[in-house]
Amino acid sequence: MPIFFSLLLFLCACKRSHDQKIRGEYLFRNHNEYFFQLASPQKRDAPTYPWELNQIAGVPHITKDFFRCRGSRQNPVKIQQKEGSAARTLRDCTGGHGLPLKGGREFIYPALIDLLNYLQEKTGKKVIITTGYRCPEHNTYCDPSPKNWNSKHQIGAEVDFYVESFETQPEQILAFLQQYYKEKPPFANDPTFTRFTRYEKSGLNVATPPWMNKEILVKLYLPEEGRDQDNQHTYPYLGIQLRWDRNSLQPITFDSRQAQNYLRH
Ligand SMILES: [Zn+2]
Repeated sequence: MPIFFSLLLFLCACKRSHDQKIRGEYLFRNHNEYFFQLASPQKRDAPTYPWELNQIAGVPHITKDFFRCRGSRQNPVKIQQKEGSAARTLRDCTGGHGLPLKGGREFIYPALIDLLNYLQEKTGKKVIITTGYRCPEHNTYCDPSPKNWNSKHQIGAEVDFYVESFETQPEQILAFLQQYYKEKPPFANDPTFTRFTRYEKSGLNVATPPWMNKEILVKLYLPEEGRDQDNQHTYPYLGIQLRWDRNSLQPITFDSRQAQNYLRH
């Protein structure tokens, strides 16, 4: 053991004397001496992403992808207590699934997309879609009340949204929606589209009577109304329901088979 410590001390002493012999020296070069000649950096703009090419009034063009179901398995299980019957467990959908299918392709009614892009064009601001498409599972999870069973969110014919910078002025957004029908052919000369009436009916989930023409019904949700899972913000918001299909020229009603027809994962 003493031999081992002696050896260790000897080696440490050698190392120290070796370190003391090391001397640093500066290297000098002229400012224009390089091993490799480097090109002077040039300022250039960042490349444009594909989704930045498709803009209206400086904001991204709304497509059907903006309507995808907001459901998620991360959302907690809810217990629904019903008077006179057993409690019911509500689970959200897995999310990430497809949109409703029509002719084998994902489908959202184009009229909704066109209306929202028109709003972006007129305001120069982003439309924030809080609820686009809802699969039946997510629809029940958000609002299990019987009034919501036939929600057209389930067939891609309804949207809830607000507009950035117009969060507290939904009446201005409503005026733009009415203006849309006065500007766009073939609706411009047809009073069934240009004239909006009020939908006066009791038992609605909003205090303000909705506005409607032949194609749409617009609901205004005040800050204390319609606060389901998808609309957990403090702004008033608008909901547009499609009543009539401009392609088939037929009324749009809720159809449970259509609601079930979407790609699951
Ligand atoms: Zn879903």
